Amino acid sequence: MNIILLGPPGAGKGTQARILVDGRGMTQLSTGDMLREAKDSGTEMGKVVADVMAKGELVTDEIVIGLIREKLEAGGTGFIFDGFPRTLAQADALGDLLAEVGQSLDHVIAMEVNDDALVQRITARSTCGNCGEVYNDITKPIPADEKCSNCGASDFKRRADDNEESLRTRLMEYYKKTSPLLGYYHAKGQLRWVPGLGEIDEVSGGIAAVLDS
Ligand code: ADP
Ligand code: ZN
Repeated sequence: MNIILLGPPGAGKGTQARILVDGRGMTQLSTGDMLREAKDSGTEMGKVVADVMAKGELVTDEIVIGLIREKLEAGGTGFIFDGFPRTLAQADALGDLLAEVGQSLDHVIAMEVNDDALVQRITARSTCGNCGEVYNDITKPIPADEKCSNCGASDFKRRADDNEESLRTRLMEYYKKTSPLLGYYHAKGQLRWVPGLGEIDEVSGGIAAVLDS
């Protein structure tokens, strides 16, 4: 089974993807994570995208489609597409790529949230640099001993694009370029709405209900 998690920045796609990876052995394909890795490892592509990402704009379709193509051609199944596709061109390309490797897209899960919650979630967000555990200054602060509750490491990071200005751009990019995918997948009969504002396990319960239906 292959699924897309769709929703604005801060909707909780990454958090839910991690739960599906742990609980169902699925494989998360996050173009945001792949691009940040390229940036951190200083590759040519990483240098090109760093600036675009920091501003909150979208990286070119060509680059992200290339990243996803590589992963799909390497084989496997049970993919969670997280942060991809973000444009109609990417959605078409994903359909073609899946067909080429003989796979289908089973569900597109749209996470329903409101913008006020997004700003609060994102500007308060940090993650463990070692295991990726997500913290929030208000709802899930970093432990007092400054050790990750999941892995014990003390290497917390904030993303360069998790500030209000870049977030405004990311939200606008989402509404202009990504939200049309809701109509696209609705028309294909693949769209499923899940409430994204509750507790983490309520949200995962909603997703599980779709996947097990
Ligand atoms: P968010 O938490 O905002 O959903 P991601 O971690 O998915 O962020 O992505 C961070 C940034 O990486 C985006 O703002 C964009 O610059 C770039 N990016 C990630 N995925 C894509 C994509 N599919 N198409 C274009 N740009 C992307
Ligand atoms: Zn950790």
